[in-house]
Amino acid sequence: MTAAADVLVVGGGIVGLATAHALAELGADVIVLEAEPTVAAHQTGHNSGVIHSGLYYKPGSLKARTCVAGREALYAFCAEWGVPFRRCGKLVVATQEAQLPRLAMLEERGRANGLQGLTRLAEADIRHLEPEVRGVAGLWVADTGVVDFVRVAEALVARLQMRGGTVRTDARVVTITGDGREVQVTTARGARFAARLLVNCAGLQSDRVARLAGADPGVAIIPFRGDYYTLRPERASLVRNLVYPVPDPELPFLGVHFTRRIDGRVEAGPNAILALHRERYSRWALSARDAGATLAFPGFWRMARRFGSLGLGELGRSWSKALFVRALRQLVPTIHGADLRPGGCGIRAQAVDRSGRLLDDFHIVENEAGVHLLNAPSPAATASLSIGGELAARVLERLGARRGALTGAPRV
Ligand SMILES: Cc1cc2nc3c(=O)[nH]c(=O)nc-3n(C[C@H](O)[C@H](O)[C@H](O)COP(=O)(O)OP(=O)(O)OC[C@H]3O[C@@H](n4cnc5c(N)ncnc54)[C@H](O)[C@@H]3O)c2cc1C
Repeated sequence: MTAAADVLVVGGGIVGLATAHALAELGADVIVLEAEPTVAAHQTGHNSGVIHSGLYYKPGSLKARTCVAGREALYAFCAEWGVPFRRCGKLVVATQEAQLPRLAMLEERGRANGLQGLTRLAEADIRHLEPEVRGVAGLWVADTGVVDFVRVAEALVARLQMRGGTVRTDARVVTITGDGREVQVTTARGARFAARLLVNCAGLQSDRVARLAGADPGVAIIPFRGDYYTLRPERASLVRNLVYPVPDPELPFLGVHFTRRIDGRVEAGPNAILALHRERYSRWALSARDAGATLAFPGFWRMARRFGSLGLGELGRSWSKALFVRALRQLVPTIHGADLRPGGCGIRAQAVDRSGRLLDDFHIVENEAGVHLLNAPSPAATASLSIGGELAARVLERLGARRGALTGAPRV
């Protein structure tokens, strides 16, 4: 028996759900296929929970555009559907004079991206906002906030179902075939689905799903693990809100930072080290398939040559709490190892091309079977409603070009 819809969305993370939600709002019949027993099981459920402002991204890029638009859409969505959030603002701190030009560039970039609430801070202003934080200058970013993205994903599922959409969990897509008019999919449990088009939002597996669908992703997903520590409750007052360093412009990651989450916990992290398993969170997790895919990809070795020394620093911080604390002390000098206990961790799906370049922007590839989102790292959770709208528009445009769009899909 084959269940059918206009569109199949592979991946029940926040981007797949936002895409399905946008498609359903526009009148399409959608089924989301999620490999795990619950939605939001991977990146969406293992992140910092920050609603990013759009400060960091290259003006005009998809990231910049969808982060700024997606952020406001997300605040409105949360307000409308009762998902708790705090628009608390964040502090970016230059800890040395040498970082001032980069801080100025960041401010310029933020203004180019249309951010309203940016304020340059002197040392005394930093102390006023965050008494334990030390820096030579800072940037206050008023539009940043915090939320639990799992709650957002759950709200999206509820909204999607109200619109007649379906979410099937325990449905890992293992084959994709098609004839140009219809796409057929089977899952690891033998269930079969058909649709006119497919949207691949499979995150850490998106390169593999693209290949299953006959697309050449042109990139490989390299998984980067990020570990967090949590401040002990009695020391959580060290940080009032969100405190970030000035990022290294060469890297797509933002550097270890402090985040007071929506539930009041203060987390420090995450670092960024190569993960040897795409979907397991133990420090010792190793998948021969995942590690083998990374090592067999020529772009990985080119990337390793370029970022080798930075990678070793991150590796050191991953295994040595003392080194991690040393990095945190640059922002909060009074913090001690005893203030921190191990926190959670997440695995980022970072696309790397064959030349070893870490893709900066979100990356979308299309083929006959559908649309594939192949690089959706941070701030994709923030941007999800906007990226989802963008992906939905592409799909509907293609469906519109096909005879009988949104009608007559075979039903069961
Ligand atoms: C450590 C860390 C911190 C971050 N911090 C932030 C932050 O503060 N703010 C922010 O905006 N972003 C942050 N991000 C990024 C954000 O979490 C991701 O960009 C976002 O969650 C991506 O959503 P997604 O739906 O693309 O991927 P995912 O949430 O990973 O969802 C993909 C889904 O596809 C499913 N899947 C995979 N293969 C198959 C298959 N074959 N068949 C069916 N289903 C499949 C998976 O099970 C998974 O549920 C962070 C990420 C990490 C890892």
